[in-house]
Amino acid sequence: MPDPLDFFAEQYAEARAKFQLAVAQTGGQLVSYVHPTATGPDGGTLAIDVGSFGAADAPKALLVLSGTHGGEGYTGSAAQIALMRSGALAILPADTRVVLLHAINPYGFAHWTRTTEHNVDLNRNFVDFSGRLPRNDAYLELHDAICPADWSEAARADAQRRIDAWIAQHGQQAWMQAIMMGQYDEPTGLNYGGRAPEWSRATLETVVARHLPAVKKLAFIDWHTGLGQPGQPFFLCFNPHRDANWERVCGWWGRERIETTEGYGGAKRPSYSGLIFHGVQRLVAPGEMAGAVIEFGTLPVAEAYEQLRIDRWLKFGRPSGDDASRAALRRGVRDAFTPPDAAWRRGVVDHAVTIQRQVLDGLAAW
Ligand SMILES: [Zn+2]
Repeated sequence: MPDPLDFFAEQYAEARAKFQLAVAQTGGQLVSYVHPTATGPDGGTLAIDVGSFGAADAPKALLVLSGTHGGEGYTGSAAQIALMRSGALAILPADTRVVLLHAINPYGFAHWTRTTEHNVDLNRNFVDFSGRLPRNDAYLELHDAICPADWSEAARADAQRRIDAWIAQHGQQAWMQAIMMGQYDEPTGLNYGGRAPEWSRATLETVVARHLPAVKKLAFIDWHTGLGQPGQPFFLCFNPHRDANWERVCGWWGRERIETTEGYGGAKRPSYSGLIFHGVQRLVAPGEMAGAVIEFGTLPVAEAYEQLRIDRWLKFGRPSGDDASRAALRRGVRDAFTPPDAAWRRGVVDHAVTIQRQVLDGLAAW
Protein backbone atom coordinates (compact mmCIF):
# COMPACT_ATOMS: atom_id res chain seq x y z
CA MET A 1 0.00 0.00 0.00
CA PRO A 2 1.34 3.51 -0.82
CA ASP A 3 2.05 6.05 1.92
CA PRO A 4 -1.33 7.08 3.42
CA LEU A 5 -0.19 10.72 3.40
CA ASP A 6 -0.45 10.59 -0.41
CA PHE A 7 -4.22 10.02 -0.09
CA PHE A 8 -4.67 13.56 1.27
CA ALA A 9 -4.82 16.70 -0.85
CA GLU A 10 -4.50 20.42 -0.14
CA GLN A 11 -6.94 21.59 -2.81
CA TYR A 12 -10.28 20.31 -4.04
CA ALA A 13 -9.08 19.74 -7.64
CA GLU A 14 -6.16 17.68 -6.36
CA ALA A 15 -8.44 15.56 -4.15
CA ARG A 16 -10.79 15.05 -7.06
CA ALA A 17 -7.98 13.97 -9.39
CA LYS A 18 -6.66 11.47 -6.81
CA PHE A 19 -10.14 10.04 -6.33
CA GLN A 20 -10.78 9.74 -10.07
CA LEU A 21 -7.41 8.07 -10.67
CA ALA A 22 -8.02 5.55 -7.88
CA VAL A 23 -11.46 4.68 -9.33
CA ALA A 24 -9.96 4.14 -12.78
CA GLN A 25 -7.01 2.10 -11.51
CA THR A 26 -9.12 -0.17 -9.30
CA GLY A 27 -11.72 -1.08 -11.91
CA GLY A 28 -14.56 1.20 -10.84
CA GLN A 29 -17.00 3.14 -12.99
CA LEU A 30 -16.85 6.92 -12.68
CA VAL A 31 -19.76 9.30 -13.17
CA SER A 32 -19.45 13.03 -12.42
CA TYR A 33 -22.28 15.44 -11.60
CA VAL A 34 -21.04 18.96 -12.34
CA HIS A 35 -22.41 21.82 -10.26
CA PRO A 36 -24.43 24.08 -12.58
CA THR A 37 -23.41 27.41 -11.01
CA ALA A 38 -20.97 27.29 -8.10
CA THR A 39 -17.20 27.35 -8.62
CA GLY A 40 -14.07 26.91 -6.56
CA PRO A 41 -11.96 29.77 -5.13
CA ASP A 42 -9.90 29.70 -8.36
CA GLY A 43 -13.03 29.67 -10.55
CA GLY A 44 -12.61 25.95 -11.18
CA THR A 45 -15.34 23.38 -11.79
CA LEU A 46 -17.11 21.78 -8.86
CA ALA A 47 -18.65 18.33 -9.06
CA ILE A 48 -19.82 15.32 -7.13
CA ASP A 49 -17.87 12.30 -8.40
CA VAL A 50 -19.29 8.82 -7.99
CA GLY A 51 -17.17 5.68 -8.16
CA SER A 52 -19.14 2.42 -8.40
CA PHE A 53 -17.89 -1.14 -8.02
CA GLY A 54 -19.74 -4.43 -8.56
CA ALA A 55 -23.02 -5.37 -10.24
CA ALA A 56 -25.46 -2.52 -10.85
CA ASP A 57 -28.46 -4.66 -9.82
CA ALA A 58 -26.89 -5.95 -6.59
CA PRO A 59 -29.34 -6.18 -3.66
CA LYS A 60 -26.62 -5.38 -1.08
CA ALA A 61 -24.50 -2.26 -1.13
CA LEU A 62 -22.12 -0.04 0.79
CA LEU A 63 -22.52 3.71 0.25
CA VAL A 64 -19.70 5.95 1.50
CA LEU A 65 -19.90 9.77 1.51
CA SER A 66 -17.18 12.37 1.91
CA GLY A 67 -17.35 16.13 2.26
CA THR A 68 -20.80 16.64 3.78
CA HIS A 69 -19.14 19.36 5.88
CA GLY A 70 -16.81 20.80 3.28
CA GLY A 71 -13.29 20.86 4.67
CA GLU A 72 -13.87 17.64 6.63
CA GLY A 73 -13.95 16.08 3.17
CA TYR A 74 -10.18 16.05 2.78
CA THR A 75 -10.15 13.32 5.41
CA GLY A 76 -13.21 11.51 4.00
CA SER A 77 -11.66 11.62 0.54
CA ALA A 78 -8.47 10.02 1.91
CA ALA A 79 -10.60 7.31 3.58
CA GLN A 80 -12.34 6.54 0.26
CA ILE A 81 -9.08 6.46 -1.68
CA ALA A 82 -7.50 4.24 0.99
CA LEU A 83 -10.38 1.76 0.64
CA MET A 84 -9.79 1.53 -3.11
CA ARG A 85 -6.00 1.30 -2.72
CA SER A 86 -6.32 -1.41 -0.04
CA GLY A 87 -7.52 -3.92 -2.63
CA ALA A 88 -10.74 -4.58 -0.72
CA LEU A 89 -12.92 -3.77 -3.76
CA ALA A 90 -11.00 -5.94 -6.23
CA ILE A 91 -13.27 -8.96 -5.81
CA LEU A 92 -16.75 -8.22 -4.50
CA PRO A 93 -19.41 -10.91 -3.99
CA ALA A 94 -21.85 -11.09 -6.93
CA ASP A 95 -24.69 -9.67 -4.79
CA THR A 96 -22.72 -6.65 -3.50
CA ARG A 97 -22.07 -3.18 -4.84
CA VAL A 98 -19.95 -0.35 -3.44
CA VAL A 99 -20.70 3.28 -4.27
CA LEU A 100 -18.24 5.99 -3.20
CA LEU A 101 -19.63 9.49 -3.42
CA HIS A 102 -16.82 12.06 -3.41
CA ALA A 103 -17.39 15.64 -2.19
CA ILE A 104 -21.14 15.66 -1.74
CA ASN A 105 -20.75 19.36 -0.84
CA PRO A 106 -18.08 20.34 -3.37
CA TYR A 107 -18.45 24.09 -2.69
CA GLY A 108 -17.61 23.67 1.00
CA PHE A 109 -14.86 21.20 0.14
CA ALA A 110 -13.17 23.56 -2.32
CA HIS A 111 -13.55 26.63 -0.08
CA TRP A 112 -12.53 24.80 3.12
CA THR A 113 -15.79 25.76 4.79
CA ARG A 114 -18.51 23.74 6.49
CA THR A 115 -21.48 24.81 4.42
CA THR A 116 -22.78 24.79 0.87
CA GLU A 117 -22.86 27.73 -1.56
CA HIS A 118 -25.97 28.95 0.32
CA ASN A 119 -24.46 28.72 3.79
CA VAL A 120 -26.54 25.60 4.32
CA ASP A 121 -25.38 22.87 6.64
CA LEU A 122 -26.12 19.97 4.30
CA ASN A 123 -26.53 17.67 7.28
CA ARG A 124 -29.56 19.70 8.40
CA ASN A 125 -31.09 20.08 4.91
CA PHE A 126 -32.91 16.73 4.67
CA VAL A 127 -36.21 17.92 6.13
CA ASP A 128 -39.64 18.05 4.49
CA PHE A 129 -39.73 21.64 3.19
CA SER A 130 -43.43 21.35 2.31
CA GLY A 131 -44.23 20.96 6.02
CA ARG A 132 -43.57 23.03 9.13
CA LEU A 133 -39.87 23.52 9.64
CA PRO A 134 -38.30 22.70 13.01
CA ARG A 135 -38.00 25.68 15.38
CA ASN A 136 -34.92 26.41 17.44
CA ASP A 137 -35.81 29.36 19.67
CA ALA A 138 -32.76 28.93 21.86
CA TYR A 139 -30.46 29.41 18.88
CA LEU A 140 -32.37 32.47 17.71
CA GLU A 141 -32.11 34.01 21.17
CA LEU A 142 -28.33 33.54 21.09
CA HIS A 143 -27.65 34.11 17.38
CA ASP A 144 -26.05 37.57 17.84
CA ALA A 145 -23.73 36.21 20.52
CA ILE A 146 -22.83 33.04 18.62
CA CYS A 147 -22.26 35.05 15.45
CA PRO A 148 -20.94 38.48 16.52
CA ALA A 149 -20.42 41.05 13.75
CA ASP A 150 -16.87 41.68 14.94
CA TRP A 151 -14.27 39.08 15.89
CA SER A 152 -12.39 41.42 18.22
CA GLU A 153 -11.34 40.64 21.80
CA ALA A 154 -14.00 42.96 23.17
CA ALA A 155 -16.82 41.65 20.98
CA ARG A 156 -15.94 38.05 21.75
CA ALA A 157 -15.72 38.67 25.49
CA ASP A 158 -19.11 40.37 25.42
CA ALA A 159 -20.61 37.48 23.44
CA GLN A 160 -19.10 34.94 25.82
CA ARG A 161 -20.66 36.69 28.83
CA ARG A 162 -24.09 36.34 27.23
CA ILE A 163 -23.50 32.69 26.34
CA ASP A 164 -22.18 31.86 29.82
CA ALA A 165 -25.18 33.53 31.44
CA TRP A 166 -27.52 31.56 29.18
CA ILE A 167 -25.77 28.26 30.00
CA ALA A 168 -25.86 29.08 33.73
CA GLN A 169 -29.63 29.48 33.44
CA HIS A 170 -30.47 26.61 31.04
CA GLY A 171 -27.62 24.12 31.40
CA GLN A 172 -24.98 22.57 29.17
CA GLN A 173 -27.39 20.07 27.64
CA ALA A 174 -29.74 22.82 26.40
CA TRP A 175 -26.73 24.72 25.00
CA MET A 176 -25.60 21.65 23.01
CA GLN A 177 -29.13 21.22 21.71
CA ALA A 178 -29.33 24.91 20.71
CA ILE A 179 -26.09 24.87 18.73
CA MET A 180 -26.30 21.39 17.21
CA MET A 181 -29.90 20.60 16.25
CA GLY A 182 -30.03 22.97 13.27
CA GLN A 183 -32.04 26.15 12.64
CA TYR A 184 -34.11 27.35 9.69
CA ASP A 185 -34.50 31.09 10.37
CA GLU A 186 -31.08 32.77 10.18
CA PRO A 187 -29.61 32.34 6.68
CA THR A 188 -26.21 33.69 7.77
CA GLY A 189 -26.16 31.73 11.02
CA LEU A 190 -24.57 28.46 12.07
CA ASN A 191 -26.20 25.09 11.40
CA TYR A 192 -28.63 26.74 8.98
CA GLY A 193 -30.70 24.01 7.32
CA GLY A 194 -31.93 26.14 4.41
CA ARG A 195 -35.37 26.84 2.97
CA ALA A 196 -35.26 24.38 0.06
CA PRO A 197 -33.39 21.22 -0.90
CA GLU A 198 -29.81 22.00 -1.88
CA TRP A 199 -28.31 20.92 -5.23
CA SER A 200 -26.18 18.45 -3.25
CA ARG A 201 -29.33 16.88 -1.78
CA ALA A 202 -31.04 16.62 -5.17
CA THR A 203 -27.89 15.08 -6.64
CA LEU A 204 -27.67 12.52 -3.84
CA GLU A 205 -31.27 11.55 -4.59
CA THR A 206 -30.33 11.06 -8.26
CA VAL A 207 -27.25 9.04 -7.31
CA VAL A 208 -29.23 6.66 -5.09
CA ALA A 209 -31.88 6.15 -7.80
CA ARG A 210 -29.35 5.69 -10.58
CA HIS A 211 -26.46 3.89 -8.92
CA LEU A 212 -28.32 1.81 -6.31
CA PRO A 213 -31.50 0.87 -8.22
CA ALA A 214 -31.98 -2.58 -6.67
CA VAL A 215 -30.63 -2.13 -3.16
CA LYS A 216 -32.49 -3.93 -0.37
CA LYS A 217 -29.77 -3.89 2.29
CA LEU A 218 -27.64 -0.78 2.45
CA ALA A 219 -24.64 -0.21 4.68
CA PHE A 220 -23.91 3.52 5.06
CA ILE A 221 -20.88 5.54 6.13
CA ASP A 222 -20.75 9.35 6.15
CA TRP A 223 -17.17 10.40 7.01
CA HIS A 224 -16.74 13.49 9.22
CA THR A 225 -14.11 15.01 11.49
CA GLY A 226 -14.23 17.07 14.66
CA LEU A 227 -15.93 15.12 17.44
CA GLY A 228 -14.15 12.50 19.51
CA GLN A 229 -10.68 11.84 20.88
CA PRO A 230 -7.85 13.09 18.64
CA GLY A 231 -7.28 10.68 15.75
CA GLN A 232 -9.84 8.17 17.06
CA PRO A 233 -13.07 7.21 15.30
CA PHE A 234 -16.30 8.35 16.97
CA PHE A 235 -19.46 6.60 15.78
CA LEU A 236 -22.89 8.21 15.54
CA CYS A 237 -25.42 5.56 14.55
CA PHE A 238 -28.85 7.04 13.83
CA ASN A 239 -30.73 3.74 13.53
CA PRO A 240 -33.34 3.47 16.30
CA HIS A 241 -31.66 2.50 19.54
CA ARG A 242 -31.42 -1.28 19.96
CA ASP A 243 -33.47 -2.16 16.83
CA ALA A 244 -32.18 -4.88 14.47
CA ASN A 245 -30.06 -2.48 12.42
CA TRP A 246 -28.60 -0.86 15.54
CA GLU A 247 -27.59 -4.33 16.70
CA ARG A 248 -26.16 -5.03 13.25
CA VAL A 249 -23.96 -1.92 13.44
CA CYS A 250 -22.79 -2.97 16.93
CA GLY A 251 -21.80 -6.31 15.37
CA TRP A 252 -19.73 -4.61 12.68
CA TRP A 253 -17.81 -2.12 14.76
CA GLY A 254 -18.21 -3.11 18.42
CA ARG A 255 -20.99 -2.27 20.87
CA GLU A 256 -18.71 -0.24 23.15
CA ARG A 257 -17.98 2.16 20.27
CA ILE A 258 -21.59 2.51 19.13
CA GLU A 259 -23.05 2.95 22.61
CA THR A 260 -20.42 5.33 23.97
CA THR A 261 -21.71 8.45 25.68
CA GLU A 262 -18.62 10.54 25.06
CA GLY A 263 -17.93 13.07 22.34
CA TYR A 264 -20.01 16.10 23.35
CA GLY A 265 -17.87 17.43 26.16
CA GLY A 266 -19.93 15.66 28.84
CA ALA A 267 -23.38 16.38 27.36
CA LYS A 268 -25.68 13.74 25.83
CA ARG A 269 -26.05 13.47 22.07
CA PRO A 270 -28.38 16.27 20.92
CA SER A 271 -31.33 15.48 18.65
CA TYR A 272 -30.56 16.69 15.14
CA SER A 273 -32.99 17.64 12.39
CA GLY A 274 -32.58 17.06 8.67
CA LEU A 275 -29.75 14.51 8.71
CA ILE A 276 -28.50 12.91 5.49
CA PHE A 277 -28.63 9.58 7.30
CA HIS A 278 -32.40 9.80 7.58
CA GLY A 279 -32.70 11.17 4.06
CA VAL A 280 -30.89 8.16 2.57
CA GLN A 281 -32.91 5.84 4.79
CA ARG A 282 -36.12 7.23 3.24
CA LEU A 283 -34.69 6.94 -0.29
CA VAL A 284 -33.95 3.22 0.02
CA ALA A 285 -37.17 2.30 1.87
CA PRO A 286 -38.69 -0.26 1.99
CA GLY A 287 -35.13 -1.56 1.75
CA GLU A 288 -33.19 -1.41 5.01
CA MET A 289 -30.24 0.75 5.91
CA ALA A 290 -27.73 0.41 8.74
CA GLY A 291 -24.69 2.55 9.37
CA ALA A 292 -23.25 5.64 10.95
CA VAL A 293 -21.78 9.05 10.70
CA ILE A 294 -18.17 8.38 11.65
CA GLU A 295 -16.05 11.24 12.95
CA PHE A 296 -12.31 11.37 13.54
CA GLY A 297 -11.57 13.50 16.58
CA THR A 298 -9.55 16.68 16.14
CA LEU A 299 -10.12 19.27 18.91
CA PRO A 300 -12.17 19.45 22.11
CA VAL A 301 -15.77 20.25 21.16
CA ALA A 302 -15.64 23.86 22.46
CA GLU A 303 -12.52 24.61 20.40
CA ALA A 304 -13.96 23.03 17.26
CA TYR A 305 -17.09 25.13 17.75
CA GLU A 306 -14.96 28.26 18.03
CA GLN A 307 -13.50 27.43 14.61
CA LEU A 308 -17.00 27.13 13.14
CA ARG A 309 -17.78 30.62 14.46
CA ILE A 310 -14.60 31.92 12.80
CA ASP A 311 -15.55 30.13 9.58
CA ARG A 312 -18.90 31.93 9.68
CA TRP A 313 -17.41 35.30 10.62
CA LEU A 314 -14.99 35.17 7.68
CA LYS A 315 -18.02 34.92 5.37
CA PHE A 316 -20.52 37.25 6.99
CA GLY A 317 -18.82 39.30 9.70
CA ARG A 318 -17.75 42.94 9.46
CA PRO A 319 -14.40 42.75 7.63
CA SER A 320 -11.38 43.68 9.72
CA GLY A 321 -7.70 42.86 9.76
CA ASP A 322 -5.40 42.55 6.77
CA ASP A 323 -5.39 39.76 4.21
CA ALA A 324 -2.63 37.92 6.06
CA SER A 325 -4.52 37.80 9.35
CA ARG A 326 -7.71 36.64 7.62
CA ALA A 327 -5.74 33.96 5.76
CA ALA A 328 -4.30 32.81 9.09
CA LEU A 329 -7.81 32.48 10.51
CA ARG A 330 -8.90 30.49 7.46
CA ARG A 331 -5.84 28.28 7.86
CA GLY A 332 -6.87 27.63 11.47
CA VAL A 333 -10.32 26.50 10.33
CA ARG A 334 -8.74 24.17 7.77
CA ASP A 335 -6.35 22.64 10.28
CA ALA A 336 -9.13 22.19 12.85
CA PHE A 337 -11.02 19.81 10.55
CA THR A 338 -8.21 18.10 8.61
CA PRO A 339 -5.08 18.49 10.75
CA PRO A 340 -1.78 18.57 8.83
CA ASP A 341 -0.13 16.35 11.47
CA ALA A 342 1.33 13.26 9.73
CA ALA A 343 0.70 10.91 12.66
CA TRP A 344 -2.96 11.99 12.80
CA ARG A 345 -3.37 11.44 9.07
CA ARG A 346 -1.68 8.03 9.01
CA GLY A 347 -3.70 6.92 12.04
CA VAL A 348 -7.10 7.87 10.62
CA VAL A 349 -6.39 6.19 7.28
CA ASP A 350 -5.49 3.02 9.15
CA HIS A 351 -8.74 3.17 11.14
CA ALA A 352 -10.75 4.00 8.02
CA VAL A 353 -9.50 0.98 6.07
CA THR A 354 -10.28 -1.35 8.99
CA ILE A 355 -13.74 0.17 9.54
CA GLN A 356 -14.65 -0.12 5.86
CA ARG A 357 -13.36 -3.72 5.67
CA GLN A 358 -15.42 -4.56 8.77
CA VAL A 359 -18.59 -3.31 7.12
CA LEU A 360 -17.87 -5.27 3.91
CA ASP A 361 -17.49 -8.42 6.02
CA GLY A 362 -20.71 -7.52 7.82
CA LEU A 363 -22.53 -6.96 4.55
CA ALA A 364 -21.49 -10.44 3.34
CA ALA A 365 -23.11 -11.97 6.43
CA TRP A 366 -26.30 -9.80 6.29
ZN1 LIG B 1 -19.11 17.06 10.12
